[in-house]
Amino acid sequence: MAHLRNRGLGATLGAAPILRRVAIVQGMRFAPLVEPAPALSPAERRRYARHTRLVELGEVGQRRLAAARVLVVGAGGLGSPSLTYLAAAGVGTIGIVDDDVVEVSNLHRQPLHGESDLDRPKVESAAQRLYEINPHVRVVTHQERFSATSAPELLDAYDLVVDGADNFATRYLVTDACALAGKPHVWASINTFAGQLSVWWAGHGPCYRCVFPDPPPPGSVASCAEAGVLGVLPGVLGSLQAAEVIKLITGIGDPAVGRIVLHDALAGTWDEVPVRARPDCALCGETPTITAVEDPEAPPAVPQVEVAELRDLLGSDEAAGQGLVVLDVREESEFVEGRILPSVHVPVQQLLAGAADAEVGSWLAAGNEVVVYCRGGVRSDQAVAYLQRRGLDSARSLTGGIIAWSAQGD
Ligand SMILES: [Zn+2]
Repeated sequence: MAHLRNRGLGATLGAAPILRRVAIVQGMRFAPLVEPAPALSPAERRRYARHTRLVELGEVGQRRLAAARVLVVGAGGLGSPSLTYLAAAGVGTIGIVDDDVVEVSNLHRQPLHGESDLDRPKVESAAQRLYEINPHVRVVTHQERFSATSAPELLDAYDLVVDGADNFATRYLVTDACALAGKPHVWASINTFAGQLSVWWAGHGPCYRCVFPDPPPPGSVASCAEAGVLGVLPGVLGSLQAAEVIKLITGIGDPAVGRIVLHDALAGTWDEVPVRARPDCALCGETPTITAVEDPEAPPAVPQVEVAELRDLLGSDEAAGQGLVVLDVREESEFVEGRILPSVHVPVQQLLAGAADAEVGSWLAAGNEVVVYCRGGVRSDQAVAYLQRRGLDSARSLTGGIIAWSAQGD
């Protein structure tokens, strides 16, 4: 049964009313999460005039936003729009957790950062941009990986969490920490052309583990780095996350608790599936077995090679030109500036996308020893993990990358 959802908009559009399938999920309303801050200053009144004009939000809603403390995990694809709109909307305290630096391959989907931010910590680049957008908000940077050690204390300082993590380990940590603290957790995930979003909130609806009890086996799900992602997609889902945050803080509308919103950018469609809290959930069920936040088991360490050993390998006649393949996985601009000779060049994104699978196959067939390097050793670790999944067990990563190589000689 179709139901006329929004008469106002339907009327402005003339013919087409906005339709919604109410049969799927009944909307769930919640009390505002945050008590309002004292009165807005005249400067804030001018800035938020289009917000306070909204009957549902009003000045009280804006004061709730001013008093709110939101933690955003990840200042990447999803974090870019959610941080931007949360700052613009006047969320009083915005925490950012991220331990990455800005890389050139981030820029197609992370417009929070620009060309001049390359190699800067993302939290720094993000904070600077957010203060430019709105000097009335306070940005707290946590330049670290979200971990079991820091999670409980971090969560204490915030009202709710936006999950913009790009990996399952962090996603499950955020899930566990939020459910144990009883705080809502605005989640989204994206891949290639599709995205999903939900608000997980143990005690008020399902938690993420009610629907996805355990992380998938490492390597079984392709990451964005491996499978690719349409740059605008995190923009869509991250903006939607910001909208859910604003709704939760101010108590307006129906937050996406108990349903997963699905968007297919290629088909241009939106859908939603209802999800329920499970009494046997290990995290939020009747007899939970997860009662503390714990770091997941570390993935198997990537085999390393030290600078001195690589120099020996390159110096020996036997290895030079035969048997040993030195693979540079940095970007083109870094490669032309200086490299280890002789080396083969395949940027890590292309490698992970399978662009060099034919070469990888030939190295495997020839029994080559493969040493991978990048700037500092992070991308080369990713590349080696990929090569090992392709069966190239001999692949090793140069510890410290070309920085360490240059520091010890050339
Ligand atoms: Zn649960």
